[in-house]
Amino acid sequence: MTEKAYRVLLYYHYVTIENPEEFAKAHLKFCKEIGLKGRILVANEGINGTVSGTVEQTNQYMEAMKNDPMFADMVFKIDESDGHAFKKMHVRPRPELVTLRLEDDINPKELTGEYLEPKEFYKRMQEENTIVLDVRNTYEYDLGHIRGAIRPDVETFRDTPNWVRENRELLEGKRILTYCTGGIRCEKFSGWLKREGFEDVGQLHGGVVTYGKDPEVQGDLWDGQLYVFDERIAVPVNRKEHVIVGKDYFTGEPCERYVNCANPECNKQILASEESEHKYMRSCSHECRVHPRNRYVVEHGLNKEQVEERLQKIENEKSVQA
Ligand SMILES: [Zn+2]
Repeated sequence: MTEKAYRVLLYYHYVTIENPEEFAKAHLKFCKEIGLKGRILVANEGINGTVSGTVEQTNQYMEAMKNDPMFADMVFKIDESDGHAFKKMHVRPRPELVTLRLEDDINPKELTGEYLEPKEFYKRMQEENTIVLDVRNTYEYDLGHIRGAIRPDVETFRDTPNWVRENRELLEGKRILTYCTGGIRCEKFSGWLKREGFEDVGQLHGGVVTYGKDPEVQGDLWDGQLYVFDERIAVPVNRKEHVIVGKDYFTGEPCERYVNCANPECNKQILASEESEHKYMRSCSHECRVHPRNRYVVEHGLNKEQVEERLQKIENEKSVQA
């Protein structure tokens, strides 16, 4: 098998960074010198990044990080790629690596769930009295997830603690297994679960990205695709079978194609086929369709009559269905 020319690196590390602002500035300069593109967050509690570059550039970056005692044992997840997965290079200082905004923060180096390698996670998740909890955002879950995993009904990850408190009886007395994309959200969240009094908490070490690469598990029992935060948007996980779970926002048909609502003030991610995208002007609602700065209307140079015509068509169909 020939290696592709580019790579995407996904990594995080909880380690104290004394001055995140200064660190971010120097790190940005360093990444630009190498020629990397991507998004890196730096906080007092550590680093979290996704970057893309040629094999040589990414090797150079990994080597430099491994030579820094602070990041010597940082784990890199490596994906092959045909090109860059980002347009620019950003390194941003942040108050926290993952937005949980807990009233009393968790340090995963002191308190976290049991680390489970893919093989062990795979085994345990099929056992009785076990709850698999997806701790990502709902739009990530909707594109793909572990079969049978619970999808907390929340807008974003930071609402998940509240959801747990409101649904305590669901989890009480059970073994809880958490997973997320690369593992970073679980580090904190599984620690938080333990502090909340749940005793048997495990986390998928290295996240779904690692789960899909495990030579034995091969991403088995994962349905759909994995949502990623770069230009690829969706990547495959399950190498044994591909079951599509995503549904077209408008028609409900199987779909794995994400678009952003054309209303720049909404920008909501919706799954839509090309056909639906055109028919509904890539907008999640009537309000978004008629927004004065609708990007679909601008991109396709639609005039007022043409917009009106499409709106009428959507209306007519609604009344037929009703
Ligand atoms: Zn919208």
